[in-house]
Amino acid sequence: MDIAERLRELARNLYWTWRPELIEIFRDLDPDLFRRTNHNPVEFLSQLEAETLQQRAWELALEARISRAFHQMHAYLEARDTWAHTHAAPLRVHPVAYFSAEFGLHESLPIYSGGLGVLAGDHIKAASDLGLPLVGVGLFYAKGYFHQRLDENGSQREEYFSANVDELPLDRATDADGNRIHVRVECGDETICAGVRTARVGRCRLILLDTQVEENDQRHRDLTDRLYESDPEMRLRQELLLGVGGLRALEAMGIEPGAIHMNEGHSALAVLEMARCVMLRDGRSFHEVAEQIAQRCVFTTHTPVEAGHDRFEPGLFAHNLRPLREQLGLDEREMLSLGRVNADDEEEPFCMTVLALKMSRSRNGVSARHGRLSRAMWRRLWPDLPESSVPIGHITNGVHVSSWLAIPLGQLYTQLGCNWYEKLHEPSTWGAIDEIDEVEFWEQQQLLKARLVDFVDRRLRQQRHRRGESDGPTRLRTDVLTIGFARRFAPYKRANLLLDDPERLDRLVNNPDRPVQIIFAGKAHPADETGKELIRRVFEVTRDERFAGKIVFIENHDINVSRHLVQGVELWLNIPRRPLEACGTSGQKTVLNGGLNLSTLDGWWAEAYDGTNGFAVGSGGEHSDAGKQDQADRDALYRVLTEQVVPMYYDRGTNGVPSGWVAAQRAAIRSLPWRFSARRMVIDYVNCCYLPAAGVATRGFPTRGFPF
Ligand SMILES: *Cc1c(COP(=O)(O)O)cnc(C)c1O
Repeated sequence: MDIAERLRELARNLYWTWRPELIEIFRDLDPDLFRRTNHNPVEFLSQLEAETLQQRAWELALEARISRAFHQMHAYLEARDTWAHTHAAPLRVHPVAYFSAEFGLHESLPIYSGGLGVLAGDHIKAASDLGLPLVGVGLFYAKGYFHQRLDENGSQREEYFSANVDELPLDRATDADGNRIHVRVECGDETICAGVRTARVGRCRLILLDTQVEENDQRHRDLTDRLYESDPEMRLRQELLLGVGGLRALEAMGIEPGAIHMNEGHSALAVLEMARCVMLRDGRSFHEVAEQIAQRCVFTTHTPVEAGHDRFEPGLFAHNLRPLREQLGLDEREMLSLGRVNADDEEEPFCMTVLALKMSRSRNGVSARHGRLSRAMWRRLWPDLPESSVPIGHITNGVHVSSWLAIPLGQLYTQLGCNWYEKLHEPSTWGAIDEIDEVEFWEQQQLLKARLVDFVDRRLRQQRHRRGESDGPTRLRTDVLTIGFARRFAPYKRANLLLDDPERLDRLVNNPDRPVQIIFAGKAHPADETGKELIRRVFEVTRDERFAGKIVFIENHDINVSRHLVQGVELWLNIPRRPLEACGTSGQKTVLNGGLNLSTLDGWWAEAYDGTNGFAVGSGGEHSDAGKQDQADRDALYRVLTEQVVPMYYDRGTNGVPSGWVAAQRAAIRSLPWRFSARRMVIDYVNCCYLPAAGVATRGFPTRGFPF
């Protein structure tokens, strides 16, 4: 096999998305082209002739690296001695089907919008590392989520681009005879046809449905164009396709799942399709099979924000679900009551979360606090139980380590032991962090920050250029404490908390001896005017002459921007209004790379912060008056910054290293990455949810606080 063929094979398994040495090979072949093709190796290779590739590989002496990477990938794919081989053997015949409306695997595969998708992507990658038989089920969105641009007033502009499917590492799914698989889903009086694509994600597979097929008229073809349509009917139909169509696609591919995991309620209709199949097979009624179906289902809820739970108007739901309802032998009221808290309330919309909660055996929130909150939020469904016994537990989210870890730090971590990566979910692996030389550790961080400064400079120049603006300061400093804030601009995440007091901000940023600089990034949902107003507010501040070149906004927050930020910032700011952050994962990515968190005690940070491994804003109080809470948190935030964070950062020893700061970094790395890794998270799902759902009795729950 020649070099070009090997590279093409490497490009067609998304394994490279978490193998930095593979990405480096592509980059080294032609750095400009790699950037221009949005780091997409398939597209990148399609633009290089085999001869050019061969020539470049020879000139750059890459052949040995390519060959090593190729054999290494095959060794990974063919390994038999995985964690799951020992611990999850019963799932081998009947794998886990993991349903999610979005999957964030890489910036070049535009089928995610933010945190939920990135979590799903990390889940699949960690499952692959563990050797867990798991297949992801989602939709392929031709135009994905929007690209964000800010105009000269700081108003968000949304642009949609069509992905070129031929240049993505996707294949058409075929049946045993090699025919392309199509699935059909009835919606009201119409039938929608969907094609099925597959992606290889290491050892796992992801299947994606899309309606861009000849059998459909134009309206149906557009159904899977965009992620999170605002139009309720399109949204409901997307969810029908995901849940019902997804299960049909698995069946057509000969996959019979042992457990169904619904990542958020979007895919909840899968349970109804499963019921239909079992009814047909066993000749029984819906009510006779419902309990048995629920035994196989696992549901994860992701938000305590009411608007985050999909609800459909009863008429719309009844119309679109009529064909399935008839096959289930239910009348309209019975069907609607499956998604209602109060079955007798004819006005109550159909809620996907309610359906998923009723029809699963394991239900969980995504942090300890969020689990508690979800029990309170949904206790109406179990009116006879005290709140503490409501059967919703928690499994705290984590991140996939090698997807987010900067290469130099990965090299540093080899000092933890040569197979530290295989044991990253064990606390003892990280104890040796104290033995890494303090100066070396600090220097690595500073290099990563310098790299981020370059990235920001490049992006700010492009942004100015696009807006037709003249030059202004674009370069941050490399010797200044650098703070990052990057997440969806939802009002509860309070990007404005720092900005609303410009005098104080001025004193913080422009302190002559101890200055601070801040990088913002994030999208607002197209329909969220308040979120967009917040972005305009940040934009205004970046234009204020006191802050120009010191507070900056990077447009189009995606996995690429996120990776740069979490690898280069020194302090990660997370200031949601309690108790609305279910978990939050970006801060976990920062920790891996030596960044410290400054966060309200909400979501994951409420269980992660121990007084030494970062900083807390406030003591965890809540006000019924949001304005009062914001004021109290703003005061607390400035106090921590000026009294703790800034002094600790600038207090340097004779070797130029801030020992107190490095001690906190070490405390963070010792105590957090193993616990808040996707590896630990998926192991928890296997033990607490997947094995029991597949009919395996587990010996209690080996993890923290999963109260089933
Ligand atoms: C990690 C990540 C998020 C999640 O951010 P949180 O607000 O911390 O949950 C969102 N978007 C992208 C692109 C990410 O990489």
